[in-house]
Amino acid sequence: LACAQDDIEISRGQTPKAVDVLAKEIGLLADEIEIYGKSKAKVRLSLLERLKDQTDGKYVLVAGITPTPLGEGKSTVTIGLVQALTAHLKVNSFACLRQPSQGPTFGVKGGAAGGGYAQVIPMEEFNLHLTGDIHAITAANNLLAAAIDTRILHESTQTDKALYNRLVPLVNGVREFSEIQLSRLKKLGIPKTDPSTLTEEEVRRFARLNIDPSTITWQRVWQTAHNPTVTVLTIHSCTTDSTNHTTTMVVPSPLPLPKALSSPVRLLDTNDRFLRKITIGQGGTEKGHSRQAQFDIAVASEIMAVLALTDSLADMKDRLGRMVVASDRDGQPVTAEDLGVTGALTVLMKDAIKPNLMQTLEGTPVFVHAGPFANIAHGNSSVLADKIALKLVGEEGFVVTEAGFGADIGMEKFFNIKCRASGLVPNAVVLVATVRALKMHGGGPSVTAGVPLKKEYTEENIQLVADGCCNLQKQIQIAQLFGVPVVVALNVFKTDTRAEIDLVCELAKRAGAFDAVPCYHWSAGGRGSVDLARAVREAANKRSRFQFLYDVQLPIVEKIRVIAQTVYGAKDIELSPEAQSKIDRYTQQGFGNLPICMAKTHLSLSHEPDKKGVPRDFILPISDVRASIGAGFIYPLVGTMSTMPGLPTRPCFYDIDLDTETEQVKGLF
Ligand code: ADP
Repeated sequence: LACAQDDIEISRGQTPKAVDVLAKEIGLLADEIEIYGKSKAKVRLSLLERLKDQTDGKYVLVAGITPTPLGEGKSTVTIGLVQALTAHLKVNSFACLRQPSQGPTFGVKGGAAGGGYAQVIPMEEFNLHLTGDIHAITAANNLLAAAIDTRILHESTQTDKALYNRLVPLVNGVREFSEIQLSRLKKLGIPKTDPSTLTEEEVRRFARLNIDPSTITWQRVWQTAHNPTVTVLTIHSCTTDSTNHTTTMVVPSPLPLPKALSSPVRLLDTNDRFLRKITIGQGGTEKGHSRQAQFDIAVASEIMAVLALTDSLADMKDRLGRMVVASDRDGQPVTAEDLGVTGALTVLMKDAIKPNLMQTLEGTPVFVHAGPFANIAHGNSSVLADKIALKLVGEEGFVVTEAGFGADIGMEKFFNIKCRASGLVPNAVVLVATVRALKMHGGGPSVTAGVPLKKEYTEENIQLVADGCCNLQKQIQIAQLFGVPVVVALNVFKTDTRAEIDLVCELAKRAGAFDAVPCYHWSAGGRGSVDLARAVREAANKRSRFQFLYDVQLPIVEKIRVIAQTVYGAKDIELSPEAQSKIDRYTQQGFGNLPICMAKTHLSLSHEPDKKGVPRDFILPISDVRASIGAGFIYPLVGTMSTMPGLPTRPCFYDIDLDTETEQVKGLF
């Protein structure tokens, strides 16, 4: 069971079947797919109506222990499991995976197509642009960001009447309200439909959103490496010292900005730390409107979360319109709908809502749709992909869906946010562990991407494994809080010894796992995970006693405390004044009864990435709180968590290249 090739060579060694052939095999009709190239297709939502009476299959979540920065193989296990179920046990199954972000693909961790002989193919299409969903999210997000700033500018330069006349255009010489404008009038308590009958005061209230710039929470996002329209840093002078090869750049000190003007957000899907804080509005025509702003990574955006949690086009439109971007000067929420941009956002997102069909190395079906980053987002793939897959596999079939990072974050959010939104009830959890991560939790040296593993990880060390199993036991207990049976999948690496493997499985069962199974899909494909597939089938046939962890009606602070104490093991939480005032504002605006999406490091159960194992007696600091009203959650930021990751000294992009003769991509993994 040796695997000498690179992931990309293995991927390229298999020719995928044409996607229309795959679609036919799984029961899709010709007009239910939209083909992109040879091996990807979008699946139309009309399918849900056709199959509405079909009983759902079993619903299995793959989660993990607290990982090393290298990843412990959740995607690989997910794919190995469906390959084993479909190709070897002859049970219909579907994998539902998240679309990877360019951030890690070109950063540290690489892509997310799985690895070895358990992969989605073609992996370069999976890992790069796919069918453009993330680009659509970026476009929609940044349109909304532009709408906010432009509106503030125009409101500051125009009279009430001029603003009103521009917002309500003449149709055949008569002013007419659009549907969105009629709904805004209703919200304002002005029950009029004829624009000519508004009083001066009503014209003012209608035309002015009066956005308070200090409350803008909407960030720009970015999907490519550089945005030439944003000046990040002006270099005043640059000198190079040829003796010690250092370059000194002198930059002007930042403009003194009024405190109130902070935080509108844009999006980008690249790890570009220099965009964590920027200044916008430096052009002469925007004079007086300069302010500090920031970029977020695209995949952590609210629009990505809306895409993942919606269940229809109409629902997506509602959610996009409900997104709160700021408060007005009276403290009332201002939404995308108030800015008149809901329809345009929906148009930009109309294709992204359809799940993307691809296949594994063994030709079994996969949906790739939405949702990476379980640390700074909810980190789950789309509700729609899961719902469609559950219909397609039929009552006896299996849908295996993946939640990002450790069970303390990805799985907690899967249950409390995604299952609450979808109404779906999971039947089993597969908890992925590796000997190397357990050794790290047992006190092994730190594991760093790009640095060879120390001998503790390549030679047998029973003591480190035994000590590190505390993290596995804790993650099993977390899964049990939700009443779902847990199967531990020990993803075996070639350096793991029999004694280490047996010890992990033994301790996992003692901690209450339904079963614990070593799996070898990375080196052997589906046949290496047949034992796991059997165990999962048995666990999923038990009655699920699924329950949520908290009641959404609890106050926001209480919900955060329940997660911190019960899931992370914190002694208590500590709110910054900023976090407390945001919680007060969201509660007063009527958003107190939403579930919680914690933004916390994935590298520890606590807020400190270097605290391994099961940290105890820590106080979890909540530095800020945001609200994603369209997606439907409150979003606390834990400690120094940043929503725009950075790049290391030697990112993966060093190794990525294109053979211009063959057009083959090299270096992706
Ligand atoms: P996760 O989904 O948990 O982040 P992945 O499935 O993406 O992890 O795997 C991370 C990396 O580890 C991939 O490059 C994959 O090829 C590699 N990998 C996973 N399992 C094994 C294994 N058993 N042996 C060797 N490499 C593995």
